[in-house]
Amino acid sequence: MEGDTIHKGITFVNSPVDEISHLALDIGGTLIKLVYFSASREQIVDKTQTNSSRDSNGVSNGSKDRRLINGKLYFIKFETSKINECLDFISSKQLHYRGVQHCGFPISDKNIIKATGGGAFKFADLFKEKLGISLDKVDEMSSLVSGANFLLKAVPSEAFTYVNGQRNYAQIDNNDLYPYLLVNIGSGVSMIKVDGDGKFERVSGTSVGGGTFWGLGKLLTKCKSFDDLLEMSHQGNNRVIDMLVGDIYGGMDYLKIGLTSTAIASSFGKAVSEDKELEEYQPEDVARSLLRMISNNIGQIAYLNALRFGLKKIFFGGFFIRGHAYTMDTISVAVDFWSKGEAKAMFLRHEGFLGALGAFMNYQLVEEFPKSVRLMGEKNCDPHVEDLNDNGTIECCVQATS
Ligand code: ADP
Repeated sequence: MEGDTIHKGITFVNSPVDEISHLALDIGGTLIKLVYFSASREQIVDKTQTNSSRDSNGVSNGSKDRRLINGKLYFIKFETSKINECLDFISSKQLHYRGVQHCGFPISDKNIIKATGGGAFKFADLFKEKLGISLDKVDEMSSLVSGANFLLKAVPSEAFTYVNGQRNYAQIDNNDLYPYLLVNIGSGVSMIKVDGDGKFERVSGTSVGGGTFWGLGKLLTKCKSFDDLLEMSHQGNNRVIDMLVGDIYGGMDYLKIGLTSTAIASSFGKAVSEDKELEEYQPEDVARSLLRMISNNIGQIAYLNALRFGLKKIFFGGFFIRGHAYTMDTISVAVDFWSKGEAKAMFLRHEGFLGALGAFMNYQLVEEFPKSVRLMGEKNCDPHVEDLNDNGTIECCVQATS
C-alpha cells in the first residue's frame, strides 16, 4: 500500500483515523488519578495477525480484523476535594464521549468509564449527574496489581533503586518478576504479595501513610499545600527534633547493635526534654522529622513483610513518594538496614498511577483477549525525566478488533 512503512514486522498505515481516547479513573481518599489513551494519527495494522481479513488493496473483506492503534497514555491527577476541577477537565477534553465508537471499540461501552478506589462508589452519582457517565467499578487491589505488572513488564526503565542520591534503573526479567511485594503508599498503605497476573494477596498495611504525613504536617507547620510541605522537608534538619543515638550516648555510636550516633533513636524525642513550644521550632525541621518518621516506619514494615514471605523484591508505589529524594532515600536506607543489605527497595516512575492504569487495563475491547486493552509494541519512556507525575506519557499501542 502506498505510503506504508515497515518497522519491525509491523505495517504503519499512513491513513488518518479519528482520534480516540479511553479514560480510566482511580478516585482515592486524597487524589483522583486519570489515565487516558489518545490515538496518534497513524494506525498500525499487524498483517501477521490479520490473515485473510484484508484483500490485496488493504481493504477489509468484512471479517473481524485485529488492529493495533498507536497512541499515548496520559497521566493527570487532581485533589479529590476539588473533584469539580476533574469533572471540568474530563468535560473540556470530552474524554467521556470520544473514541468508543471509533476504531472498532464497541459502541455499547459509551459513557461507561472504568473506575477504581473508594471514590468510584462515593462519587458515582455525581459523575452520572454532571457528565452522564456511569462508573464501572474495578476492584482497587486488583487494579494496583495489574497496573504494577503492566509497568514492570512492558515499560523499560520503570523501576529503579535509589542509593546515595542516585537513581539506578533496574532491568526487570519478565520471567523472574514474581513473587514480589507491592507497597502502595497512598493516604493509607497497602502491602500486597504478588505472585502473578491476577494472583495476589493483601498481606499487610498501615494507617500511618501519606495521609498521616500530609495531615500532621499541615497541622504542625501550617503549610498550605503538599508540595510546600515536601519543599520544607527538603530545607529542614531532623536532628533538631529527633532524639539520636548520639544524643543518648554522649555523641558515640552504639556499634555493638549496629547503630551509628546519627541513627534516630526516637522520632520527635528531643521535643520532650527541650522546654520549647511548637512555634519555636522551624517548620522545615518539623517537616523533615515527620517525613523521616513515616518513611522509615513504612520501609521497616515493608521489609518485615518481605521477610515473612521470603520476598527479595519490594516495589514502592503511591503518590506519597512523589519521586522525592528524601522519601526514597529514607525508605531505601530502612530496607537496607533491616535486611542487612539482602533486600532492595525499588520505586516506580508512574508510582501514583498504578490503580488508574490497572482500571484502564480492564476495558474489554477485544473479544479474543478478555483482559484487553492489550498494551503492546514499542514503549518510549525517557529515563532522564525525573518526575513525570503529571506530564509523563507512555507511547504504546492498543489492540482492537473492527
Ligand atoms: P489515595 O488513592 O489514597 O488518594 P495516592 O496514591 O493518591 O492515594 O496518595 C495520596 C497521598 O499522596 C497523600 O496522602 C499525600 O501524602 C501525597 N500527595 C502527593 N501529592 C499530593 C498533592 N498534590 N496533594 C495532596 N497529597 C499529595
